[in-house]
Amino acid sequence: MMEQFIEIKTANPDSLLFYRMGDFYELFFDDAREASQALGITLTKRGKHLGKDIPMCGVPVHAAEGYLERLIALGYKVAVCEQTEDPAEAKKRGAKSVVKRDVIRLITPGTLTEDSLLDASSSNYLAAVARVKSGDEGQLYGLSWLELSTGDYGVLALDHLRLGAELARIDAREVIIADHMLMDEDIRPLTDTLRASFSPVPRAFFDGATAEDRLLDYFGLSTLDGHGHYQRVELMAASAILAYVEKTQLGARPPLNPPQRELSGRTMAIDSATRANLELVRTLSGDKKGSLLSIIDQTVTGGGSRMLAARLSAPLAELDPILARQDSVGWFLENSWIREDLLEDLKAAPDMPRALSRLALDRGGPRDMSAIRSGFATVFALMDHLASAHTETSLPSELARAQAALSAMPQELGQLLSNALDDEMPLQKRDGGFVRSGYDESLDELRSLRDESRRVIASLQADYAEQTGIKSVKVKHNNVLGYFVEVTANNADRLMTAPLNETFIHRQTLANAVRFTTTELADLEARIASAGAKVVAIELSIFDQLRDAILASQDLIKQAAQAIAVLDVSIALARLAEERNYCRPRVDDSLAFDIHNGRHPVVEIALQKDGSDPFVANDCDLSPKDSHLHGRIWLMTGPNMAGKSTFLRQNALIAILAQMGSFVPADAAHIGLVDRLFSRVGAADDLARGRSTFMVEMVETAAILNQAGERSLVILDEIGRGTATFDGLSIAWATIENLHEVNRARALFATHYHELTVLHEKLPRLINATVKVKEWQGDVVFLHQIVPGAADRSYGIQVAKLAGLPDGVIARARDVLQHLEEGDRQSPAATIDDLPLFSVSMQKQELVEAEPDALRDTLQVIDPDDMSPREAHEALYKLKALL
Ligand code: ADP
Repeated sequence: MMEQFIEIKTANPDSLLFYRMGDFYELFFDDAREASQALGITLTKRGKHLGKDIPMCGVPVHAAEGYLERLIALGYKVAVCEQTEDPAEAKKRGAKSVVKRDVIRLITPGTLTEDSLLDASSSNYLAAVARVKSGDEGQLYGLSWLELSTGDYGVLALDHLRLGAELARIDAREVIIADHMLMDEDIRPLTDTLRASFSPVPRAFFDGATAEDRLLDYFGLSTLDGHGHYQRVELMAASAILAYVEKTQLGARPPLNPPQRELSGRTMAIDSATRANLELVRTLSGDKKGSLLSIIDQTVTGGGSRMLAARLSAPLAELDPILARQDSVGWFLENSWIREDLLEDLKAAPDMPRALSRLALDRGGPRDMSAIRSGFATVFALMDHLASAHTETSLPSELARAQAALSAMPQELGQLLSNALDDEMPLQKRDGGFVRSGYDESLDELRSLRDESRRVIASLQADYAEQTGIKSVKVKHNNVLGYFVEVTANNADRLMTAPLNETFIHRQTLANAVRFTTTELADLEARIASAGAKVVAIELSIFDQLRDAILASQDLIKQAAQAIAVLDVSIALARLAEERNYCRPRVDDSLAFDIHNGRHPVVEIALQKDGSDPFVANDCDLSPKDSHLHGRIWLMTGPNMAGKSTFLRQNALIAILAQMGSFVPADAAHIGLVDRLFSRVGAADDLARGRSTFMVEMVETAAILNQAGERSLVILDEIGRGTATFDGLSIAWATIENLHEVNRARALFATHYHELTVLHEKLPRLINATVKVKEWQGDVVFLHQIVPGAADRSYGIQVAKLAGLPDGVIARARDVLQHLEEGDRQSPAATIDDLPLFSVSMQKQELVEAEPDALRDTLQVIDPDDMSPREAHEALYKLKALL
């Protein structure tokens, strides 16, 4: 057996091998070590290999999905190895023969189709990155992506800068790449920053010479011309995806359409740092909760939720489709009466694309079929409700297209499915019982034969009781004996003597019971078995016919599913707009950026939940003014905690929401299309790659200054913070000049260098803005209100006080500040000479005074009634530590 294991394992070196042994999948050697750690299950041993114990762990087959889910989530691949023959067959070859086994499925993070392994509300993409040299300019990349569970398949040729942005947009679970490229300088930053797991594959997957043939062969075409003119690097990436799918699906070919070429520039480019920092679909800590998506998602179907996430990840940079989406949302806002009906229909909608893909991969069961059937019901209900609305007002273009897609659903197929499928569906097709009675005559006959025989058997018990005079006689069934008659041991003699022994044939004696069979029982059993087998065979062939009928219409079904998602997303965005008071932004191809009373969509909700003061809305106007052709830059100063970052981000988010086709959290908004969004906000040390915060900041700033153009929107927060004051100030200064003179982008620039505010005298499109604060008895009160002008002071000490710096340190800082302000700011050291030294004794003295207060303060907030014994215990420790 170990020989067999090692052979199969050698063929699948990069997957954990789930080796089927009876009711368990077992893992051996290193696989066992890794899996036991990852799953927290016991590592044991079984047998010996080369004189050493073999480490082993196992999971029960019936619970395997849960374990698979966890391993896949951790980025593992799993090869599932099953017995491919009946153990009885192996026995025939010799007592020691090993049952034949083979890998029947490779499960990788990017090629999942099972509902239990997928998240209904997120897409699950596999991506491939190809690379070719392009003249002197360097490298050209091909990026292809596929969602196996819905068949969404695309490809794009692009440069390195855009590669990172697009990979971040697609947010693939798994990225395949030629193994020799994995450690290259241009790829490493991607493997380091993206969430995806990178799977190296042999170079041959990306072979440029055979790429086109592989695609032609897969799609059974003789030319791809009808699908657009693919570049070679696109073909390489797209064919690598197919090769990987064939490898993981072990030859099964899910029906796909040739990849859609996506043209660069149709969507707003957002690099991965900006995406992460703006927490679009995930927060910086990786949670969905708290992201912009989680705040705006009011969809009720899996497909709708996935479409909303895709739209948010890829805001458009073209006017017409944005306006079309806005029209749909606007229509549902105006016609709110129809929303409730449609919403009820949508709530009942099944996940058709995923059911369809499982059927196509021959991995589907009766429930996938019934999902398609109920999809028809959803479609008919939606059409009815839409039609009633239609008579009153005409539908905007996107919704009219959706309606057309719904009405194109082949009615005959719907009829066929509802005639053929029963109401209740078994989990597995081999369980049978999913075909409705009345659908197939021969099936009905066999079923009644089978059921009749079962009934006869059930009535036999009474007959036998009468015949033998033994009241307690039972007719039972097990897998070894089949049907048998059972009596208690003390009644057995009666059946074993004449005349009853002619009818009852002894089979088995147990401690308390004796079992018999009869020819009658054996006959009936044979009839049941043969009818049962025929019933299953007929049901399976009906299953295949229905599946073929469904797959023949799969394009129409996919389009209808898409239409359902469009309705769901449009209604969800309309409800969002209504509930939160969002407005329809005016989007055009000007360079305007004028937001009136804008709000941060996520902070606004967070404050509401806290019951804190309501969010303070703020204007932002970067539109070209007077005779200037280009947009403006706002230079924001103001103390920490005043709300600068919130303001910067809220404007970026409003641009994204507007261009994804949503309404926006503002009273009014006018946005000239933004083609690229750049941000440099809150960098963290990237120690894994040996870069300091400052280095990360400079790399990101360089990317912005090198790429931003007049259509871009740039958000820069606290440039130059990570270095010496004058260095930082100089860099920030030069950056603003470059943005103003060279990039000419619309920009928001927050800084703590007040010195920069003089720049507006020199740079005509630079506007100073600040956040209003009120000083009250030496403390600072944040009003979160953005006003024109420059901040007069930074209030750093007041903020430090709020943060709980010791009183002694605060008092000392005030002293130092006063001296500095009176003296020469340019050479603090000279000023400091006049200042009495901050002696340890002085600090101690301050602290001694402060200590009893700390103790009292802590005691004061303790509420003994509101504490568990454990909390009380902890509080005691805390108090003790203050002594
Ligand atoms: P800064 O960048 O100036 O240090 P932040 O933007 O991080 O300040 O904001 C600090 C806190 O102030 C935030 O956590 C938020 O709760 C609150 N805040 C910011 N802007 C507003 C606003 N417009 N209305 C209400 N609260 C706000």
